[in-house]
Amino acid sequence: MPSLYLNLHISLDEAGIVHTECSNLSARYLSNRCTQRPVTPVENLLNTLVGFDKGTLKVLQGMRVSPLRSIPKKVQDLWTESTTTWPRLFPAEKCWTKTPPSSVDLVLATLNKLAESSNENKTFTTYRRGEPDSKADPRTAIAQLYEPSTSAPVSLIGLNIPELPDDLLKCPEALSKHVEPYDESGHQLFLTPRFSQTDLHIDSADGLSVPLGQCTKLWLAFPPTPKNLAHMYTQQGRKAKLSCIGSSLEGGLIFQTTAKEAVYLPVGTIHAVLTTTGGFLNALDFTTPESSKTYAPLSAAGIDRADESFRRDCFRHFLKSVELGLDNQRESMAVKAWVDADEQIKEYGAGDGGWRRSAMVIWDDYLERRKVRSISCPCGRGLGELFPTHFRAEHLWKTGGKRSGIGRSMKVSAPRKHTEALEPKVPPFGMVLRSRAGKEKRRLQEDVVGIDRQRPAKKSKR
Ligand SMILES: [Zn+2]
Repeated sequence: MPSLYLNLHISLDEAGIVHTECSNLSARYLSNRCTQRPVTPVENLLNTLVGFDKGTLKVLQGMRVSPLRSIPKKVQDLWTESTTTWPRLFPAEKCWTKTPPSSVDLVLATLNKLAESSNENKTFTTYRRGEPDSKADPRTAIAQLYEPSTSAPVSLIGLNIPELPDDLLKCPEALSKHVEPYDESGHQLFLTPRFSQTDLHIDSADGLSVPLGQCTKLWLAFPPTPKNLAHMYTQQGRKAKLSCIGSSLEGGLIFQTTAKEAVYLPVGTIHAVLTTTGGFLNALDFTTPESSKTYAPLSAAGIDRADESFRRDCFRHFLKSVELGLDNQRESMAVKAWVDADEQIKEYGAGDGGWRRSAMVIWDDYLERRKVRSISCPCGRGLGELFPTHFRAEHLWKTGGKRSGIGRSMKVSAPRKHTEALEPKVPPFGMVLRSRAGKEKRRLQEDVVGIDRQRPAKKSKR
């Protein structure tokens, strides 16, 4: 039945499936001898992992993941309910403000960087087999571009070289169709030979990654749904997360990036990255007015407790996102994110005075606006006119009196010594929040003075 066979192949083609044995048109449509099962787009991507650890390959083959170009509606919903959107690819050329350096230039710049780095001034981290390893020789990463190692790949993370200034990489304008990026920062270079791979992990902010030169990577990404976050929490401090929980995660996506594609990973994305062709990758962090909603579930699931600096980064980006939401017509989302994270905010704010004071400046500024009186608190109390008073009493810290207090029920303990020492790392009050389009908001010094006057003098760090 040639016509049936023709229909079958047309429908398979429309689903994006490649029939490898029948690539010849006449054989494709007229032969009735072909019995080979078609290769799916996901299998095509997994086929690029030849030579990778067989155990990893077996796990990946057992996962339920979708390619980016045909994401089922229910998978899209898992992403949009738990974070800003799903991962998006953009033409890399739209992210460079000038022609990026060649691979040769990058290798030479990396050699220079390694030669001038000592233990005291080192800004990058050397990884071996996916873990930080201070004993690994960082030059091995360059050698492995020539001769990759399946058993002990060495990669460098956090390289900052003069050939890649911060303003060379920008979020593409097309990203604004999905989210508006602000406060782009944390620009860094990665050197990853073939066989480098990261285990499943979550970054502290939204991010943009752009491979350079020949570098090709395979990405596995999962949304930060409550179910997925609960699985991740069970793996805190453990290795081989991908093998242990990969097949239990929902909403999985798989895609490849070359130097032609930049990828936007939404905040909270659980992801693992495998390097199929070695090379350099550029990355930057940012936040958006829509990112705040993801931090409450992250924190409630205990994900932010992986380590102290990660937790600090999460709360710093969360606060920025709340501020951006309040200033950019996402007030309901920002207020809800804050109230949803109430318990975690109270606990974290008690130990980080700088962060707590920054938060008070932002909320004081917002609650003084007249239109705030039309908002009702998502906690079910504090309706209309009562909202500002209710919000201050229940969801913020008291600023008057001899001792600050959170809400009605919780006392603020004195900031821990190690946290105090870290305070300069929280965003300063003069911080400028800048969008890709150049919109700015500067937190005014007058606001700082106003708040400082109300604080007990001996706690002032500024
Ligand atoms: Zn409330």
